[in-house]
Parts: sequence; structure tokens; C-alpha cells
Amino acid sequence: MAAAEEVQFCLKVMMMKESNKVLYAEVDNDFADVLLSFLTLPLGTIVRLLIKHYGNKAPIIGSLSSLYAGLLNLDSCHFWTEEGKLMLLNPRNSYGFQCSRLKLQIDDTPPATQCFACENFTCASMYYKMTCLCSTLRNIMTGRELEIEAQSADKSVFTAQTASFLLTDDLQILTNTSTSLLQVLKLNGIGDTSVLEERTLIFGLKEIMELLKRSLVSQTPITDVILSISSAAGTLNKRQKFSASTKYESDALPQTNENVSSDSKKIALKALVQKSTHRVLLAQTRHEFIDFLFSLLIIPLGRVQFLLGKSTCLGSINNLYRSISNWEDVDYMMSKEAVDALLDPQIPPYYLSSYQILSLNQQSSSAVHFRYKRGRYFYTTTPDLGSTPMKMIDPKGHDSFVKGRTMYMVTDDLVVSTPSSAFIISTLNRMKIPVSDVEEQELGIGIEEALSILKASLFSTSALSDGLKPFLMRQQKQEK
Ligand SMILES: [Zn+2]
Repeated sequence: MAAAEEVQFCLKVMMMKESNKVLYAEVDNDFADVLLSFLTLPLGTIVRLLIKHYGNKAPIIGSLSSLYAGLLNLDSCHFWTEEGKLMLLNPRNSYGFQCSRLKLQIDDTPPATQCFACENFTCASMYYKMTCLCSTLRNIMTGRELEIEAQSADKSVFTAQTASFLLTDDLQILTNTSTSLLQVLKLNGIGDTSVLEERTLIFGLKEIMELLKRSLVSQTPITDVILSISSAAGTLNKRQKFSASTKYESDALPQTNENVSSDSKKIALKALVQKSTHRVLLAQTRHEFIDFLFSLLIIPLGRVQFLLGKSTCLGSINNLYRSISNWEDVDYMMSKEAVDALLDPQIPPYYLSSYQILSLNQQSSSAVHFRYKRGRYFYTTTPDLGSTPMKMIDPKGHDSFVKGRTMYMVTDDLVVSTPSSAFIISTLNRMKIPVSDVEEQELGIGIEEALSILKASLFSTSALSDGLKPFLMRQQKQEK
């Protein structure tokens, strides 16, 4: 397979001559697969890939960038295992094995094609070099290739091979038919097609990363990418300036998807609030809430759409998600499994903390079996009569990622650290807030609050304030 930097897609783009705006692009199934794979990317992976690609010019994604940076800086001693922290920093894509067939792979997280096993053929782990449980010597388990079932001959991942699509500027993906074309023309009020001109554009890794970045904030990501290419070539255009354009309405609660379970436990949180503005300066809380916060990084984009329903307002990702939601049972998708992987992606095995508030579906973990054949040992997840199951180790080391018995401090932009009185004093100083304007408020975090924090974390660098403000106000009214 070609290196990601060498892969190129040839796009026929229909532009509106006068406004230089994209009406639609004609894309093949390889390009459609790469675009659709965005929905399978966990939020933490998106943050990590943007940092990897753009370095210190990486865009800030709401409070997720600071949540990720805080996780990176939090000492490993706060996690049951070092592997648990690594799992959160490098969340696996549950559809990663299939996505390794993409023509261009932007996600470099290794798929689960290797297991770590001990010399006694007793313990196995699908993640990292864990310490063997059966040996008194606490041997480190060594990595071994897993026997993988013969791959499907299909090269496609989500869409049927040779299928062709019309991709609108706001990322609606439609079948390439005259019906779709007329629909796009009419919806955009184009009566006279002479206002249009076709251009052929090459999209490589740089443009796909730009498309990922713009798709999170813009309603015209393809036009934005093209303008950023031409501005890089010398013609600067003010449109290409990156900004989170979506206004976050903190008073509006997320419209919960009906399928999301509402019977959930509440986690206690003590918030330091500025009385006059209802602004959360910081929160003190226990490991349960920290586990929930870090778990935001493992949620795939498609599941975020599923959880928040219509209310994500995430650039044009909502359009991409919506336009494929009617694709079931049609012959331009690969399979029902492929549709599910996009519309309701699961999280990989062992990623679910017992303190997860949001409803996340975890892939069932397939046990590793070993088999002796022709003088060699094989490791496989597809057992037969001659194979023996191995004891699977939970890489988190526990039913949660973060250790208990300690209080943690969370800033408004979701940076997690150990409590610091000096930090509280400097925050009050910096924001010129008198002590008389500050009070502590206790709040229970359940499904409604968790969804609101998730939504706010996507756009706002004050995720706690924006996410919790309606609940703090409601609580204050009840107390009066
Ligand atoms: Zn062992």
C-alpha cells in the first residue's frame, strides 16, 4: 500500500464562477470511504491527528484539545496501569481493521492485529505489553501476530466498489444520479447552468486533513479547502481563516436521541462558581467524574452524532451523518455492518469504564486462543476444536482508568490535575473576581448533564460553564 503522503484523489468539482464557491464534487468510492471514515474516528484521535499534522498550529477543538493535553500531562501514577493512560491517548478505532483497507489512512493507530501473550500460553492481551498474571516472576508478555481470517476480496470499506457520488459543499453525500443532480441544482437556485464551471482538483493527505479540520467547524468545508490551497499558492482570502463558527447556545439543552437510556447514576461534583455570572471557575471531584471526562476522548464522531441527535451543530459532519442514514438496504453500501459502523460506531473492548454515564456500546471482546500446528504455536480469535482459550487481561487493570481515593481538580476547559490552592488564588487574581462573588455549588452529573458537557466540549473552551450553566441556574431557582 502506498504511503499516505503519496496517495492522490482526482476530484471533478463544479464551481459557481462568480462566487468561486463549490456546488458539488464528483467523488469515487475510495474518496467516499475516506470521508465516511471520519465518523469512526474517536474524538481523542481527531485531536491527536490534528496536533500531529499541524504541530503548534493545530486548531483548538472546543475543550477537547485542553482535555487531551491535560491527560498527557497527568502523572501515570493516577491510572491503574500505564497502558490505561496510553489507551486514552491513542484510542483505537473499533472499525480499524477494516479501515486499514482505505486508499488513504489518516489514522495511524495500529489495528488489533497483534496480541501480547505469555510464555505459559495462559494470559493474553490485545493491548500493549502487560505483565503476565500467572507467573510469580511477573513476566512481560511478548507481542505476537494474530491469525486473521482471510480478508474479504473487496477493496472497499463502506461503499460499494465502483460506486460514484455527488458530494455537496456542506458534505451531503448523494448517489451520482440525474435525480440527485437536479435536486442539488434546484436547492441552490441554479436555473442557468452557464454560471457553473468544472475544475479538476487533486486531493492528497494535506487536503484530506484540511477537510477533516474544516468539516468540524464549517458549512462550506470543500470551498474552504480549495481556498486554503489557492491562498497557500499566494492568493490570500479572508474566508480561509479558521474559527469555530458555530455559536454555542449554553441555555439550550441537547436534544437527546430517543435511543439513549436515561436511567443513569449521578456523579457528585463540587463547582466553584462566580455568583454574578454563573461561570464555573473550576470543579473539585473524584475519579468517577475524571473517568467520564477522559472517556469523551474515546467516543467516535458517529456516536457523538447519535448521542446528541440534531443538536451537535458540528460544522457539516451532521450533514454527512444524516445523508447516509437512509442508505441501508441499498446496493451502493458494502454491508449492514458498514452502515452500523458509521451511524452507531462501537467502542473497542475494555474501553468502557464502569463510571461511564453516556450510553456507549462496547464491542464484545473475542478471546485469544492458541493452537499448536506443524511444530508452531498460533494465536487466533477464531477458535476450533484443537485450540485452547487464553485468559484475557483487562489493560485498564481495573473497572476504571483513574484511581480512586484522590480528589481531582478540573478547569473550565477540562484540564484535569491534582487540587492546588495556589491555582484557585491565581485564577481569582487573573479574572479579578472578589471572593464575595464566589460560592461552591454541588451538582449531580447524570445523563442530561453529561450530554450537555459533551456538547459544550465540542465548541467551547469553557465546557464546564457552558455545559453546566442551565443546571446550576435550575438548582439555584429550586433553592430559592
Ligand atoms: Zn501468563
